[in-house]
Amino acid sequence: MIRDNIEQLLAEIPEGVELAAAAKARTPEEIEEAIEAGVRVIGENYVQEALAAHDQVKLPARWHFIGHLQTNKVRKIVEIFDMIQTVDSLRLAREIDKRCGAIGKVMPILIEVNSGREPQKCGVLPEEAVELIGEAALLPNLKVEGLMTMGPLTGDPELARPYFVETRNLFEKTAELGIPGVEMKVLSMGMTNSYRVAIEEGSNLVRIGTKIFGPRG
Ligand SMILES: *Cc1c(COP(=O)(O)O)cnc(C)c1O
Repeated sequence: MIRDNIEQLLAEIPEGVELAAAAKARTPEEIEEAIEAGVRVIGENYVQEALAAHDQVKLPARWHFIGHLQTNKVRKIVEIFDMIQTVDSLRLAREIDKRCGAIGKVMPILIEVNSGREPQKCGVLPEEAVELIGEAALLPNLKVEGLMTMGPLTGDPELARPYFVETRNLFEKTAELGIPGVEMKVLSMGMTNSYRVAIEEGSNLVRIGTKIFGPRG
């Protein structure tokens, strides 16, 4: 089933758009099945789960952190992740910089944008993103490579469209600023419910869980 779902997605998604398998609550066996079927990026939300999965999954993949990251957990994860998509504060950026410096690594990061301006949600407000990007760009052991957004979770993917549009506009505006050390190339938007709309609005990295693995138990 996982293989069929992935083949269908890979056939549907246009060239230049990367499929990340959002693997929270999935077993290492399920993750390996996804990689065998052609997924190149594994998204993980939880530190302990990610460490265990990374330990057991032997097939090659790029690991992206896509959950809320607490500063006290950064040290544990910088070695195994290839990208952190959810940087939303200078404090967190500084901690990633420090921990990567200690192991001689430069971490690609995305700035998470709270495009729906939801008070309880993670992410920096759209109007505060450029300032954070400018500050993060000065840190030597991380590299800002784009933006990530969730958008408000609604049943109707059309309702997510304005938030994807706003994030894409911010992405383009930031690229035009030409901030030294910043390379705006990844725009991570879209999940099972919303990936089609997100791709229409410029996403080049979709994070899909349910449509790959089935409903979470
Ligand atoms: C769970 C999750 C996804 C995937 O959600 P689905 O609706 O299962 O596709 C994508 N992004 C993030 C950050 C997630 O936590």
